Amino acid sequence: MEIISVIPRGYCQGVVRAIRTARKTAEENPGKTISMLGMIVHNRYVVEACRDLGIRFIEDPGKTRTELLDEIDEGIVIFTAHGVSDEVRQKAAAKGLTIVDATCPDVIRTHELVREHCRHGDVLYIGKKNHPEAEGTAGLSDRVHLISSVSDLDDLPALENVMITNQTTLSILDIGQIIDACLEKYPDAVISQEICNATRIRQEAVMNLKDTDCLLVVGDTRSNNSRQLAEIGRRSGIPETWLIGSVEDLKEEMIKNKNRIAVTSGSSTPNELTSQVISFLKEYAETGKFILPETVRCALL
Ligand code: SF4
Repeated sequence: MEIISVIPRGYCQGVVRAIRTARKTAEENPGKTISMLGMIVHNRYVVEACRDLGIRFIEDPGKTRTELLDEIDEGIVIFTAHGVSDEVRQKAAAKGLTIVDATCPDVIRTHELVREHCRHGDVLYIGKKNHPEAEGTAGLSDRVHLISSVSDLDDLPALENVMITNQTTLSILDIGQIIDACLEKYPDAVISQEICNATRIRQEAVMNLKDTDCLLVVGDTRSNNSRQLAEIGRRSGIPETWLIGSVEDLKEEMIKNKNRIAVTSGSSTPNELTSQVISFLKEYAETGKFILPETVRCALL
């Protein structure tokens, strides 16, 4: 059995930066109330490790970031790598909260681009409804129109000077189709494709896998980027693709009698979790014994 360790995989720079920012904030402010507006990333091991540092998470999938701020009345608020709208920033400042901003530089770049274009035109922003990054960017101006599916275009009036752009973490397999639909309605629109480099190269690495009969994606089931990697594996023709949270989720039937197993992980997955899976597979390939560890703990970085 051959084990392919897919490169690149795992934490992106934006996530590492957000985790470092959260850790530094906790270390420098003992005893203060530190709240994170939303989940730092969708990974339970990362969230548990941050809770151990004393950081509390304010999260409710049914509420916007602006609404969630109502639950923070004192101390420090950390904005996650997904970024926030100006409304959230202003509301946090008006409440007297100390703001620590961990927005990813790639998201900031998209915000600047969108703000600039909204001075003289409209923006079609392709993104997922209720995703924090889409909420933050769509909230920058009334001239930003969130397009989550082709049918969202039906409600839009005739617009002039249109720019098409997108959430940084979309699938490279899906974006072309939705851009084409936007261009059909607004043929003169300019396109600024903003899938970030980290997302793109992780997805391309999976698409380029050859002769692989099983792909294991290490990532939380709530993690959009991990689910997308698994979907790309399926659509690239890999016969079996599994999304597992950690080595604990492995089952022998997933890996038994396989010739080539590839392992990757989403940009929200700690590298240690993926290394544990790879080590387990190597051991299994050598010994044929399937003995899972009793507990999995994992450092933040
Ligand atoms: S996935 Fe891309 S945009 Fe999101 S945090 Fe990572 S580098 Fe930044």
